[in-house]
Amino acid sequence: MPISRADAEALDADDPLATFRERFVVTDPDLIYLDGNSLGRLPASTPARIAEVVAGEWGERLIRSWNEGWLDAPARVGDLIGTLVGAAPGQVVVADSTTVNLYKLAGAALAAAAPRRHVIVTDRGNFPTDRYVFGGLGEVRLVETVADVASALGPDTALVSLSHVDYRTGEIADMAAVNEAAHAAGARVLWDLSHSAGAIPVDLDATGTDLAVGCTYKYLNGGPGAPAYLYVRSELQGSLVPPIRGWFGQRDQFAMGPEFDPVDGVGRFLSGTPHVVGLACVEEGARVIADAGMAALRAKSTRQTGMLIELADAWLSDLGFTVASPRDTARRGSHVALRHADGRRISRALGELAGVIVDFRRPDVIRFGVTPAYTRHVEVWDALDRLRELVATGAHETLPPPTDRVT
Ligand SMILES: *Cc1c(COP(=O)(O)O)cnc(C)c1O
Repeated sequence: MPISRADAEALDADDPLATFRERFVVTDPDLIYLDGNSLGRLPASTPARIAEVVAGEWGERLIRSWNEGWLDAPARVGDLIGTLVGAAPGQVVVADSTTVNLYKLAGAALAAAAPRRHVIVTDRGNFPTDRYVFGGLGEVRLVETVADVASALGPDTALVSLSHVDYRTGEIADMAAVNEAAHAAGARVLWDLSHSAGAIPVDLDATGTDLAVGCTYKYLNGGPGAPAYLYVRSELQGSLVPPIRGWFGQRDQFAMGPEFDPVDGVGRFLSGTPHVVGLACVEEGARVIADAGMAALRAKSTRQTGMLIELADAWLSDLGFTVASPRDTARRGSHVALRHADGRRISRALGELAGVIVDFRRPDVIRFGVTPAYTRHVEVWDALDRLRELVATGAHETLPPPTDRVT
């Protein structure tokens, strides 16, 4: 017998993070939102903060606001995110998009490598933007799985870059082991934390990570298109020069000097004028996660993803579903992937007919993201119950073929 609904309710009654749900905007209590791994919910404090940034800081203080907090925001919010990913202050800044940050850090690592080191090693399943960016920078060596990375390293390798949590399956890569193998081969390592920061504990400093990037609109709840962050280990900051040489990375920015002379710290990787409104959104979102604490979030997340797998095994295996995420808790991030041949129609029908928002990744993966700061146990239970009902009755087969671009 799998867990009962009453058991799920009891877990919510005992949940030390239960009150954190109130720190998010929930307009429809019947809608089960399991897509925080793509776009996190709106923090309750964000609208007022944005109103203040726009009406107060911009509308009233005008350009004086640059000296009253705006200029410091990329480093201030970066340090806050640093507390979530095991980075001591002075190593993280918020800027640009994840895609642009990948370009800046991988480009800098390639430029600093010895001439014979020109290859970037990554895996075939890595997120597309990562693979595309690397392809535009140099020679890419694609390995089939993360486990094959170590054997693909050689004297020609400049950089290894992987996603810490696989965006399809939710599998966690062994950060410390990959760092060690890469360093032994004389290469640098760049991690994409887009599905890890705010979702699972990350220890960039302790694992000897060189470089990292990540987005803020998934588990950090920074909002659509909010600026991303980047990490450069302190010892490397002086020796890496960004391929985008912007005036916000300049030592004496307002001297308007003739040549690029980067600041000593991670700030050299800021390019142009920061996105002030987006930064305020990121600060609100990251603060909620910092207040909840990664240990408590992780404990709840693994309980919820474990429950989801238990229910899928009990209810869905006879309906054509298979679990594509690791069953080993230690290797599983904060979303669970289920495969089904009719996955695209099912995921859409879940949203349109059953009030459960999930997402779909081709060819057959439906992702169920749990965001422990606001997802309740009973929502996970109800989501799987509604899914079972939907597919058992064939209700999803009544929908016309999907045409949405975002799935
Ligand atoms: C979401 C995500 C991105 C997004 O990059 P953008 O530049 O924000 O579009 C990049 N990498 C990974 C692994 C992601 O999950």
